[in-house]
Amino acid sequence: MRPDDFVPDGSRDIETAVRLLAGHLAPGLEPLARLAYNYRWSWDPAAEALFRRIDPEHWLRCGENPVRLLQEVDPALTSALAADPGFLFDMHARALDLDAMLRDAPTAPPVAYLCAEFGIHQSLPFYAGGLGILAGDMLKQASDDRVPVVGVGLFYSQGSFHQRLDLSGYQHEYWLRTESDRLPAVPVTGPGGQLRITVDLRGQPVAARIWRVDAGVSRLYLLDTNLPENRITDRWITSRLYVGDRGMRLAQYAVLGIGGIRALRAMGIPFRAVHLNEGHAALAILERLREELPHHASAASRIGAVRASTAFTTHTPVLAGNETFDPATVRELLPRLAEDAGLSWDELLALARVDPVDTGAGFGLTPLALHGSGAANGVSRLHGEVARRMWHGIWPDRPEAAVPIAHVTNGVHQPTWMAPRWAELLDRYVPGWRTAPPGDPTWSCVDAIPDAEIWALRCELRAGLAALVRTRSVIERLGRGESVEYANSAVDSWRDDALTIGFARRIATYKRLYLVTSRPDLALEILRGDRPVQIAIAGRAHPNDEEAKHTLQSLFALNDAPGVGGRAVVFEEYDMSLARQLVQGCDLWLNLPRRPYEASGTSGMKSAANGGLQLSVLDGWWAEGYAPAYGWAIPSDSSLPEPEQDARDGLALFTLLRDQVIPLFYDRYAADIPREWVRRIKRSLAALLPQYSARRMLRDYQERAWPPQRDM
Ligand SMILES: *Cc1c(COP(=O)(O)O)cnc(C)c1O
Repeated sequence: MRPDDFVPDGSRDIETAVRLLAGHLAPGLEPLARLAYNYRWSWDPAAEALFRRIDPEHWLRCGENPVRLLQEVDPALTSALAADPGFLFDMHARALDLDAMLRDAPTAPPVAYLCAEFGIHQSLPFYAGGLGILAGDMLKQASDDRVPVVGVGLFYSQGSFHQRLDLSGYQHEYWLRTESDRLPAVPVTGPGGQLRITVDLRGQPVAARIWRVDAGVSRLYLLDTNLPENRITDRWITSRLYVGDRGMRLAQYAVLGIGGIRALRAMGIPFRAVHLNEGHAALAILERLREELPHHASAASRIGAVRASTAFTTHTPVLAGNETFDPATVRELLPRLAEDAGLSWDELLALARVDPVDTGAGFGLTPLALHGSGAANGVSRLHGEVARRMWHGIWPDRPEAAVPIAHVTNGVHQPTWMAPRWAELLDRYVPGWRTAPPGDPTWSCVDAIPDAEIWALRCELRAGLAALVRTRSVIERLGRGESVEYANSAVDSWRDDALTIGFARRIATYKRLYLVTSRPDLALEILRGDRPVQIAIAGRAHPNDEEAKHTLQSLFALNDAPGVGGRAVVFEEYDMSLARQLVQGCDLWLNLPRRPYEASGTSGMKSAANGGLQLSVLDGWWAEGYAPAYGWAIPSDSSLPEPEQDARDGLALFTLLRDQVIPLFYDRYAADIPREWVRRIKRSLAALLPQYSARRMLRDYQERAWPPQRDM
C-alpha cells in the first residue's frame, strides 16, 4: 500500500493494539490478542470457551472482557497453556475462522447506522436498554450476512449506571469510570496522531476523538469529547447516557449526528446511506444538508438529495418520549445550525415541527428525522399503525394509511441470545435452520425433534439459571447486610424443576411491572401452591424515576410474604449477561405493557429462541407473533380507563397462570415429560425463530429502507 493510500479508519490502530497485547502473552499465544480485539468471540462459543479456560474465575471477575483478562492474567498460567496442544489447536482454529471472516468482509460502501447506544456485550457499557441492544444485534447480523454496515455512536466515559438494592429493595445507583485502556477499543489515528473532529457548540469548537470497536466484519465508531483540550463541561458531554440537563443532552445529539458524519468523512469512509436509529441522531440530516450546499441551489433539492439516502426508525409510541427542545436552547447551543445548512431559522424550525407554521411548537427530533428521511418505519406492525396516526399531521393531505411510515418488526441476533445447546440441537434435526426464511418447509423438521431431547435441554437450562439464582442471591443478600440464614434460604428454596417465570425489563410505567403485585391474593395463591412456581425478576429504574423505584421495591417485598419463602427473586444489575441467562433459563416469559406503548419488545423473542413460552399483552411484536397454538395472550382493551385496564389485565394474568400455564407445565406423561408443553415449544420455535430473527429484520431493511447496494 502506498502511503497516500492510507485510510485512517483505525485498522492500523487495532493492529498496533493487538501487537502490544500479544507482547504480554507467552510465545505461541499471540493469536489470542487478535481474538480479544474483535467481539466476534462473543457469538462464537468455541472462542468464548478459550478465554474462559484461561482462568474461569478471573474471566468472570473482569466482566468477560478478554483484553482485560489477557492484560491481567498470571504469566505462569499462560505458559502452561502455551504448552497445551488442545488449547493451541482450538486457538488456531478460532483465529483462522476469524481471519477467513475478515477476508470475506464486504467492500461496498456501508450504511452508516447512527444510534445513541450500542449493546454489543456487557463489557462495553454503552447501552441502556432495548434500543442499544437492537443496534448491537444489527451490527452482528450485518457481519454474519456480510452486509456492509458501520455503527456510529458515543463513547461514554462513565457508561451506564450500576444498580444496588438496599434492604428495603430501594434502588441506588453509581457510575464507574470506563477503563478505556482495558476495553477492546482503540482511538483512531491519522498521519498526525489521534484523529480529531470538531463540532461548534456555543460558537466554540468542541473536539472529539473516535474510538473503533470491531464486531466480526462490522465496525463501530464511538465519539468521545473527554479530551484535555476541551473545556471541562464539554468533556462531560459524552459522560453518561441520556444526561438529564437539556442543553447537555442536545450537545450529545449534536456530537452524535453532526460529529458522526464528520467522523466518517475524516476517516475517509464513504457510505451509501445514513440510518437514524431513533431521533437522537437526527442532526445528521443538517450536517448532510451543509455538505450538499455546493451541489444544489435550492433548499428543496438539497433536502431531496439527503432524503434519497436517509432512513429513519422511530421507536417511541409515547409522544413525550419523542424528544423536543426549546428553540431558544437550540439557537443558543448551535447558533450557526441553520446558516451552515443553508436555511433560515424559520426554515429550520419548520423542518423540526409537525405543522411547519405552528410557531408554538418546539424543535422536535422525530419530525426532523421524518422530514429528512426517504424511508421511515416503526418497529412492529402495530407500532407502524400507531406511528402513522401519531405523525399524520406531517402529511395532513393524505389519509392516515398513506402516511409514509412503514414497519420493520424487530428481530434478535440468535447466536448472541440462544444457548449454544439449542443451536446444536437444531443443527442435528433442522438442517439449514440458520438461513431458512419464515414459512420454509425446513421448519416442519422441528416436529421430528424427540420430546425427550427438548425437555432435557429445557431442564438443563432451567437448572443453569437456578445455579445462578443461588450464587447471586446469596452474594446480593449478604451485600445488603441480610443475615447468613436468610441469604442461605435462597439456596434451599429455589428449585431446578419448578416452573420458572421470567420478567425482566427497564421499569418504565408503561411496562406495568406493578401488575405482578397488583393482586397479592392471586399472586400468593400461585407462589404458595403445591405445584411450585418461581419467578425471577430483574429491572432497572431510571435514576430519577421515583415511581419506578417504588415498583421495584414492591416486587422485592413479594418474597417477604409468608409462605413465599424464596420463590421470587429480584436481581440487581440487569445487563446483557443477566438477560442472556434469564431468557435461556425461564420456561415462561412475561410482558405486560400498556397497549400500544410497547413499540416492539425484544426480550420475548430471545426467550422464544430458547424454547421459552410467552404470556404477554397483545402489544408490540406479540400482537403479530401470537398464536393460541403456542402462546398466551392478554388482549387488553385500551379504550377503557387505565385503572380498569390494569384491574382486568392483572386478573387475566393470574387466571391464565392458574388455569392454563401451571396445569400444562405439570401435566406429565411418560418419562415425566409435559407433552403438551413440549408441543407448544416446537410450534413456537417453528413459527417464531425465523420471523423474529435479526436476519429477517436486516433483510427487510435492505429491501424496504436502504438504497440498493452497489458493489465496488
Ligand atoms: C433485550 C433487552 C432489553 C429489551 O427488552 P424488552 O423486551 O424490549 O423490554 C433490555 N435490556 C436488556 C439487558 C436486554 O437484553
